[in-house]
Amino acid sequence: FKKIPLPDKTKDELEQMGAAFNRMMARLEQNYYQQQQFLSDASHELKTPITVIESYASLLKRWGKEEADIQEEAVEAIHHEALRMKELTQNLLQVASRNNLSIEEVEIVSLCRQVARNFSQTSNRIVQVIAKPEEVIYETDANRFEQVLIILVDNALKYSETDVTVSIEVVEEVLMIRVQDQGIGIPKQDIPHVFERFYRVDPSRTRSTGGSGLGLSIAKSIVDSLGGRIAIESEVGVGTTVNISFLIKF
Ligand code: ADP
Repeated sequence: FKKIPLPDKTKDELEQMGAAFNRMMARLEQNYYQQQQFLSDASHELKTPITVIESYASLLKRWGKEEADIQEEAVEAIHHEALRMKELTQNLLQVASRNNLSIEEVEIVSLCRQVARNFSQTSNRIVQVIAKPEEVIYETDANRFEQVLIILVDNALKYSETDVTVSIEVVEEVLMIRVQDQGIGIPKQDIPHVFERFYRVDPSRTRSTGGSGLGLSIAKSIVDSLGGRIAIESEVGVGTTVNISFLIKF
């Protein structure tokens, strides 16, 4: 039978729908692979501490009663690895629950000051806050926002020995928050990778500082979900600045 030619407008619409459908499928597929990758990375990361705990527990069972040195070493190692696993699982839960935002009006400067105060008290280091203007109301999820700040300030303190500065600025319609340190910095070739899950510039060093390589990837996924941007500038031996920015809708 004879094909009825479709009007051009319908053809265009069908083509557009087809393209949108393909895009959606590609996104779903990409999400699926990212989740698979994440699961395999996470299992891999959990396997190391579990293996260490298992070996030291066997050692304890065999020699622990007679050898005080072995007992001390094993208990120390098991404790250390258990803490790593705890941190890792907390981070994994964080990644898994990144939906369900609770958006409200938040005064950003006092939130930053509160985070800085908490860190100054617990770390005995100065976390300075510089704000211009002194009050910024922004609609966001306060808990998530705070989590990002905590990750960035924690890193800044971990990878430096001097004061850390958090600055808040509103330039035209953009709210910018900078967390700055004068620490060890990040080599140029590593900068593009630091937002990747489980990426550490120097695994041996970060292992001793207790990092899991998830902090910045979590910070990025939260900032993304809040509609903002995150960027990092760094120079070895000079320091690191992480910028987060959000468009303010007036
Ligand atoms: P970690 O838990 O290892 O700190 P992150 O995802 O937070 O993981 O950071 C990834 C890596 O980026 C870190 O291991 C560290 O090498 C580097 N890094 C992050 N923040 C800083 C900083 N402020 N100064 C220097 N290096 C940093």
